[in-house]
Amino acid sequence: MGILDEDVARVRESTDIVGLISQYTQLKRVGQRWSGLCPFHAEKTPSFSVNDSEGLYHCFGCRASGDAITFVREIEHVDFVSAVEVLAGRCGITLRYSDSEEHEGRRRHARLLELMERAVEWYHDRLRTAPDAGAARRYLRHRGFDSDEVARYRLGWAPDDWDRLVRGLGAPAEDLEAAGLGFTNRAGRLQDFFRARILFPIDDERGRPIGFGGRKLPGTEGAKYQNSRDNVLYNKSKALYGLDRAKTGIVQANEVVVCEGYTDVVGFDRADIGRAVATCGTSLTEDHVRALKRFSRRIVLAYDADEAGQAAAERVYAWEQAHEISVFVVHLPPGADPDELARSDPQRLRSSVVDARPFLSFRVERVMSAADLDSPEGRARAADAALVVVAEHPDELVRDQYVMDLADRCRVPPDQMRARLEQVRRAPRPSGDADRRSRGLDEAERPVSGVGRLPELHDGVESEALRLRLHHPEVAAGALDARMFSHALAAAAYRAVEAWGSPAAAVDHVPPEVAEVLARLAVEPLEIDPTDVLARFAGEVGRRTLADLEAEARSSMDPLAFAEVVSWLKVTLDHLRRPNVDVDTLMELVAFLRAEVVQTDAESSGNVSSGTAPEPVAETSDVGELE
Ligand SMILES: [Zn+2]
Repeated sequence: MGILDEDVARVRESTDIVGLISQYTQLKRVGQRWSGLCPFHAEKTPSFSVNDSEGLYHCFGCRASGDAITFVREIEHVDFVSAVEVLAGRCGITLRYSDSEEHEGRRRHARLLELMERAVEWYHDRLRTAPDAGAARRYLRHRGFDSDEVARYRLGWAPDDWDRLVRGLGAPAEDLEAAGLGFTNRAGRLQDFFRARILFPIDDERGRPIGFGGRKLPGTEGAKYQNSRDNVLYNKSKALYGLDRAKTGIVQANEVVVCEGYTDVVGFDRADIGRAVATCGTSLTEDHVRALKRFSRRIVLAYDADEAGQAAAERVYAWEQAHEISVFVVHLPPGADPDELARSDPQRLRSSVVDARPFLSFRVERVMSAADLDSPEGRARAADAALVVVAEHPDELVRDQYVMDLADRCRVPPDQMRARLEQVRRAPRPSGDADRRSRGLDEAERPVSGVGRLPELHDGVESEALRLRLHHPEVAAGALDARMFSHALAAAAYRAVEAWGSPAAAVDHVPPEVAEVLARLAVEPLEIDPTDVLARFAGEVGRRTLADLEAEARSSMDPLAFAEVVSWLKVTLDHLRRPNVDVDTLMELVAFLRAEVVQTDAESSGNVSSGTAPEPVAETSDVGELE
């Protein structure tokens, strides 16, 4: 089984252990040995040393020790065979295996990696030279990519064709499918997986391409990004774009910046922050944390502010404890992403990374910045809302630091704050790990609704629309209707505000989860332009309405039923996707959608709708059925 002994010995002898370990920690020569901070445990003074001539390392702090193979096994979390393969790859040794089946499996894996490498080259060549890639080249130039960068990131172009790549590579269909480069269509023909997209090759941390992120050109059909599907090489909850290139920078700065997009990584690079990686179409997972902590235990999230604030707090704190990491959050200007900021104001991008706040602090400041600290009521509300966030932190000492700071800022005696915090911590929690920064008010004192709790309302278009109603009633009132919301909790919250006039007046009359949503949304300002919110919301409602109309037309046996309104709706929805939405068109759409939900409601309930009159809030049991 495994690799032939003599090959293992050859790999061990040929490996430069100082060069290997230097990829993970900085080593300095001290007499006969090399010394540095241990890559296996967190420390401030070096207790890790490497003996170059013996090919061994030892840590006097955590007692990790071994040879080059042990080092790779422990730091990369791989088995013996993989560790030897990693090292063999570094020194160009071709391994022989004792077991023929294993030999076959490893060979197939190597073959697929080689195929991916050829695909990257093929796509890259298309982007640079093919006449049909002109638009892609123009787009990249427009986004600030010069030819050096295109070469460095090995960007590619997947032509707008059925099978150009699979014919071009001429590999077995089975391999092309296994590597996610092609698929067999319904006609039984092998087809390219990517089509008409700019491709960002995603490498494993050893720099070998395992997948692609594909971006469409503006003004073309389809989702903005399409990524490789999970396969034998690529797993999206483990893959980190840019990790191979960023490794050294991460170790040197002892910090890794995690962002969301391929171009954000490029943006950080351009701003001389060569330690950024991106998750590929997913949020941060524990597997990502495991991969990153081997390079640095300081993880800085550079997400859009809303998403960072919304990141599942419980999971973050659990990871901090289990993996001894610290999570920080970069505060980006509202609506800005790192890619844009790198072009418009690289200095600001750099300083925002330097000023990253601990995760809890970031969340507390979001609550506090939205609070009204000039009135006693406002300060009490702010204290409550902030305590809910603080309560989630598992460490009592950490919580207490924040409590004292908040007591000061909200002018509440610290002991009273502590008592309140305990109250919040004892209060029953809803299931799920979504944000619940508003659960400050004591739930036990609220009337309990007769129905089960409604599903939680996550941040998104509907909660934005609710915030629009709370913070810009002049825009929302009269334009929106509770029936336009698909989420039962959002609809109930909207109804409550309509019925009682304000969230403050409503909270005493509604079920706790509705009060919670209102309290939370009321303390968070709307950082987006009201018209944009309205446009996004109308877009969402419009797409649902369109689907309904089309379904109804199909079932009515009359292919032309609603044809006119359907085509108008399509054109209007298309318009909404463009920047600088025309307000009149938007308001026309909103009025149409509002009339539509009122009418549908009247039809389905079999009576004449009461139209715009607010309905009694006790009806949460009804809205629950809309889910
Ligand atoms: Zn150690």
